Amino acid sequence: MKPAGIYIHIPFCRARCSYCDFATGTYESALAERYVRALISEIRNFQSTADRQEADTIYFGGGTPSLLKAAQVAAILDAVYARFHVARGAEVTMEMNPGTLTLDTLKEFRALGVNRASYGAQTFDDSELKRLGRTHNAEDGRRTLTLLREAGFTNISFDLIAGLPAQTLETWSRNLDEALALRPSHLSFYLLEVHEATPLADQIRRGAQPLPDDDLAAEMYRLMLERACEAGYEHYEISNLCQQGYHSRHNTKYWTADAVFGFGCSAHSYDGARTRWSNERDAARYTVLMEQRRTPIVETIELDERTARAESIFLGLRLMRGVDLKEYRARFGSDLRDEYAADLERLSDAGLITFDSDLMKLTATGALLSNEVFSLFV
Ligand code: SF4
Repeated sequence: MKPAGIYIHIPFCRARCSYCDFATGTYESALAERYVRALISEIRNFQSTADRQEADTIYFGGGTPSLLKAAQVAAILDAVYARFHVARGAEVTMEMNPGTLTLDTLKEFRALGVNRASYGAQTFDDSELKRLGRTHNAEDGRRTLTLLREAGFTNISFDLIAGLPAQTLETWSRNLDEALALRPSHLSFYLLEVHEATPLADQIRRGAQPLPDDDLAAEMYRLMLERACEAGYEHYEISNLCQQGYHSRHNTKYWTADAVFGFGCSAHSYDGARTRWSNERDAARYTVLMEQRRTPIVETIELDERTARAESIFLGLRLMRGVDLKEYRARFGSDLRDEYAADLERLSDAGLITFDSDLMKLTATGALLSNEVFSLFV
């Protein structure tokens, strides 16, 4: 059995960004205290088929997990180490946000064994940050990297978002120059999605912000890949680039369908075989459920054979190295190329996928239109 990943959701932020639809709210210290106790209790009571499951990645996601006090992070990690057999050299990531960090706090997290930092720079343009309702400015984004390095972090990722309202190819290009000059070990980049029921969607409906242009966003994606690859980054997943050896080990588990156990509100888990389950989304309701010693799980899905096959294809295609046809045959006992012959021929004729000996991969256009490709398998 491969080691699992452990995901810990921390649903607090300093303020809500206007485009965000994650399960997160503004930080309240009383709820945070109760929430951390609830999390620890969920981790301690975790049941799995293996008595003490092996794990080799821990990921604090959110939200802004770095808003927690070091003592709270330490208590959560203690619970994880007591319940799971965590491999030496495990990757321990914490998501952070600029403008919320001090050198001392970062040193404390580092001393607790957090060895990878991932933060939301999003853009290095102050007016674009303002449009997104971010609480930091571009200088905070630069300074976060400096602080992390001073605190001893060498494995540092940050996120950029393209396709923002009023963003132009010129401002995006300046963003890229700045991002690449900072030489993070890992970069994630996203095209903005405008979710219904967010303040940004409302602003766009009212005409207070322009509608982002999809074609322009596609140009930005192409430019990002071109510049980053020229600068020596490896494009290893649709939205992720890294310097050699710095891919996200935790996130790769999602794409290779390995087991990941999630704790906290809205956390999703997968046992690496046939069962997925997810927790109550609301932080306060999750906390009360745990305080009442009730299960936080609100949905369990047993994957049927067809869904398991489809998932292994569309998750695997997210990795630019592609889906290994030999592995697929070993796992499911059939030939993927025969099974989906008509669909694959159509995708290949449209220039969206390609075959390279025993690997099936997305092309550059396929990566841009990945949702259309994946929808064929869902
Ligand atoms: S910092 Fe991230 S998680 Fe928090 S509100 Fe903003 S986008 Fe959402």
